[in-house]
Amino acid sequence: MRKLIVAGNWKMNTTVPEGVELAKAIVEKAKGLPAGVELVVAPPFTHLASVADVLKGSKVCLSAQNCADHEKGAYTGEVAVSMLTSIGCQYTILGHSERRQYYGETDEKLVVKTKLALEAGLKVILCVGENLDEREAGKHFDVVTAQTKNVLYHFTADDLKNVVIAYEPVWAIGTGKTATAAQAEEIHACIRSVIAEKFGAAVAEDMTILYGGSCKPSNAKELFAEKDIDGGLIGGAALKADDFLGIAESF
Ligand code: PEP
Repeated sequence: MRKLIVAGNWKMNTTVPEGVELAKAIVEKAKGLPAGVELVVAPPFTHLASVADVLKGSKVCLSAQNCADHEKGAYTGEVAVSMLTSIGCQYTILGHSERRQYYGETDEKLVVKTKLALEAGLKVILCVGENLDEREAGKHFDVVTAQTKNVLYHFTADDLKNVVIAYEPVWAIGTGKTATAAQAEEIHACIRSVIAEKFGAAVAEDMTILYGGSCKPSNAKELFAEKDIDGGLIGGAALKADDFLGIAESF
């Protein structure tokens, strides 16, 4: 059975007290959410321990936005997977386009990070997606196929049980431009076929594939109605509990 997930990427927003308040509001509102939809919040590293306390006993899961590509040691400014699991983190986002674009995150690095995360017992939300030039050049299927293969083909079908893919067209992130449901669906179906090609149809069928890019309560229903869209990775709208929950109620 495919899991439905709505994950909120807070990026570099909120102070710790603001983040704690936001988490409290999400936990409160999530009580009314039908079972079967998993909520995940991904605050900045500085917030994780405090937000973990707020989430205790709730159905909201905790995610980091990134992790180090080394286990431990002299890597100033980095955060290891063992540090994340030690405060109760269950997920980490990896390969967000902002990390690929501004911090030189490569597919090779993502293989290492994904391996470390899975070995530590963290689930991975792996982001893929084309930029505007690539879409305009008609290369979006090729880009997303390559990003998916370059990372996930290094893993086993068993590993994939703990991986969620987020398709995030870069041109739709934070721009207010959402991919149409049809545009998103055709890429999601493509990603699923890339998974099926190596791991078989059953593994592909079970894979949760999220859409991200200016998703909000007003467009989530149409997106989530598509057969290969299993939820969303939400940026801006994840910073308001009402909007975030409004999206989660759109299945
Ligand atoms: C994101 O960055 O993951 C994202 C989807 O952002 P937004 O919802 O703001 O477009």
